[in-house]
Amino acid sequence: KLLEKKRNYWGKKEKVLGKREKVLEKLGHRALGCCCKGPAPLTPGSLLAEDGDFLALDLGGTNFRVLRVRVSDNGLQKVEMESQIYEIHEDLMRGSGAQLFDHIAECLANFMEKLKIKDKKLPLGFTFSFPCHQTKLDESILVTWTKGFKSPDFDIDIVAVVNDTVGTMMTCGYDDHNCEVGLIVGTGTNACYMEEMRHIDLVEGDEGRMCINMEWGAFGDDGALNDIRTEFDHEIDMGSLNPGKQLFEKMISGMYMGELVRLILVKMAKEGLLFRGKLTSDLRTTGHFETRYVSKSDPLGLQKAHEILTKLGLEPSHEDCLATHRICQIVSTRSANLCGATLAAVLRRIKENKGVDRLRSTVGVDGSVYKKHPHFARRLHKTVRKLLPDCEIRFVRSEDGSGKGAAMVTAVAYRLAAHQEP
Ligand code: BGC
Ligand code: MG
Repeated sequence: KLLEKKRNYWGKKEKVLGKREKVLEKLGHRALGCCCKGPAPLTPGSLLAEDGDFLALDLGGTNFRVLRVRVSDNGLQKVEMESQIYEIHEDLMRGSGAQLFDHIAECLANFMEKLKIKDKKLPLGFTFSFPCHQTKLDESILVTWTKGFKSPDFDIDIVAVVNDTVGTMMTCGYDDHNCEVGLIVGTGTNACYMEEMRHIDLVEGDEGRMCINMEWGAFGDDGALNDIRTEFDHEIDMGSLNPGKQLFEKMISGMYMGELVRLILVKMAKEGLLFRGKLTSDLRTTGHFETRYVSKSDPLGLQKAHEILTKLGLEPSHEDCLATHRICQIVSTRSANLCGATLAAVLRRIKENKGVDRLRSTVGVDGSVYKKHPHFARRLHKTVRKLLPDCEIRFVRSEDGSGKGAAMVTAVAYRLAAHQEP
């Protein structure tokens, strides 16, 4: 449905839109990884942003946030921001799109009131990266594009919609001009990278580069990962909101890591290998082994494992703790290795594109698993460097990339638009 609407839209577009809108369109679409050739190569670091105030919405990570980003000194030197986290209840997340976007509009209104900018018409960037209900939300986005933000009290100018990986790459690109990959390992996982235009068949023209949102969480949905998926991966998938989808993501990201550990513990207990064969209702309950436990048990070992298992109503022996600790380690290491291998493939692709002997490149990274698990980042880096001994890869943690990124893309779009105007 979305694609169809988009196609229709593009058909009519040429006649309707003025020059400025066209430029904004192109930029937004390129940032989305859609098919459009832009006015200048989108090398994150080379873009200048327009000074001024911008709003941003960040939806799809651990928190929903509204941000005001102030760009000054020609966009390059100074970026200040204020943000507020708003809660989105689960029933709203799984309810109708209209309700969800009404809520988002209310949060935005509240934020603008607080900052006393209610009467200003500020440009807004939207980082939209909701993992599980994406199809539904995409549909609702189109509905709400015209409705949800059209609250009579608030005049908002939506300029850019970006994926969080793109936001992350863009914000890191401001500090490091070699940044050409954006990576998220958080609630979900995904990456984007700069691809050569000559390799993008969907888009006319061979000059320059364009950002591709890979949506690599869906890797394996065609069966490509079948030989490495375990019974636990199958079980996770069957019990998920989107069976058969996002199979790679389900082996990696924070939404599933704790649950993977729990399923393994349950199976081992059932076979009498753990907890003297005893299962508690807590351990049997989906979601009760939280991913943050994996972060704690993996590095801190036995004592933490003991604490967590006791919380789940178990009376763990020394061996039980040892095993749990080891399982956490295995699950999170597998995640880091899978992620590292895939990232290495992307970087090798960039290296081949450039035809260099030695690639120097930077990856902008964000996400709760990458940032909060004490060993994840190190293991990921190690895998990448092992697979690419002939490359110098720098990893830069993005600070608020997924929120700030959309505002930055918006600011850049404004700048370009201003220059294109007659
Ligand atoms: C979404 C991506 C997003 C990633 C990280 C995935 O579930 O499909 O669009 O970039 O999560 O937030
Ligand atoms: Mg985020």
